[in-house]
Amino acid sequence: MNYRIGHGYDIHRLVPDRPLVLGGVKFDTDYGLDGHSDADCLTHAICDALLGAAGLPDIGHFFPDTDPAYKNADSQVLLRRVVAEITKLGYNISNLDATVIAEKPKLAPRLAAMKAALAKSAGLLPDEIGLKATTNEGVDDIGRGLAIAAHAVALLSRR
Ligand code: MG
Repeated sequence: MNYRIGHGYDIHRLVPDRPLVLGGVKFDTDYGLDGHSDADCLTHAICDALLGAAGLPDIGHFFPDTDPAYKNADSQVLLRRVVAEITKLGYNISNLDATVIAEKPKLAPRLAAMKAALAKSAGLLPDEIGLKATTNEGVDDIGRGLAIAAHAVALLSRR
């Protein structure tokens, strides 16, 4: 068995009057992440971890933020496309693990829903995805609630 590990990181600024979507789950807030797509930084970090593990170029290569096709795009659609790309190369996803760094909103009550949405898009079982949330302890712009960041790792296997 050939194993490949990948890492992904993403950050987006929080702005008023944008929908907040993380891990494919919409939150009931009056602020959201700014970006060309739905700006779901958790899903973007997972996409980059998967692409990195497969030795493919990053998410910006596949879904350029200059392409109107991806304006307000649902990042679960992007994740499904990424999974199709790595599947074409013969890889299976063994597991994903991710951490979201956010001062607000409280993510813990929605972690199970986020896992379920990501599992559906990635073709995994929810227990094949690790998902944690932490704050930035008031440090830097993330700690002041001005941005949300996410880290992810992915393990791929190929016979
Ligand atoms: Mg992004």
